Amino acid sequence: MSQDCIFCRIARGEIPSRKVYEDEDVLAFHDINPAAPVHFLIIPKVHVVNLYDADMAHQAVLGKVLGMAGQLAREQGLTDGFRTIINNGRVGRQEVYHLHMHVLGGPDPLRSGLNTP
Ligand code: AMP
Ligand code: ZN
Repeated sequence: MSQDCIFCRIARGEIPSRKVYEDEDVLAFHDINPAAPVHFLIIPKVHVVNLYDADMAHQAVLGKVLGMAGQLAREQGLTDGFRTIINNGRVGRQEVYHLHMHVLGGPDPLRSGLNTP
């Protein structure tokens, strides 16, 4: 848990979000600046910076992030496919340094990547 981290603050309920799903381990919420008709993020509630910071101690929670994606995507209307993205570090163009997986989709085929996070 990090005091100033914006996604920790969202997980603690200190900053509002449009929630998609929540349990004791993970939170999913809509991206504030969507890059697709449906664009939400799935985060572990525990503060993990990115995949460099992850190790086997995070196996269960990161498994849950992946394991929830299909169900949540379907519930958000993404029945014909979706894209997942995890950005890591500077070259990965990570903006928020709390690990998150983007889930993107919508009725139209997504362009090949220029306008995705
Ligand atoms: P990344 O470049 O992978 O670190 O992406 C960070 C994402 O977090 C961006 O798509 C932002 O639009 C999104 N974001 C930043 N602040 C918030 C917030 N308060 N609520 C929801 N999404 C946010
Ligand atoms: Zn955090």
